[in-house]
Amino acid sequence: MAKSESILPDWATTLDGLIARGSTVRVSCDTCDAWVDIDLVTLRSRTSGTYSLVDRRPPCRITEGCAGHNRFLFDGRGRMELLASR
Ligand SMILES: [Zn+2]
Repeated sequence: MAKSESILPDWATTLDGLIARGSTVRVSCDTCDAWVDIDLVTLRSRTSGTYSLVDRRPPCRITEGCAGHNRFLFDGRGRMELLASR
């Protein structure tokens, strides 16, 4: 088991960390399969640098009327990975 691969790096747990790393963050939906890249600097201006996207599962905001939930992914280790603590 590649246990370490599933553990998020510390920098991925805050907006400041993701921005400093130049990571791409994407929100995708588990129901409508739509996705969109997030503007981290804009999000930071509405929240804070210590805001975390880890384990957030808000109602779908990508497709109007969709009843699904969104999840967040980031890259930084060569592929998109879920921002989830497990
Ligand atoms: Zn959706």
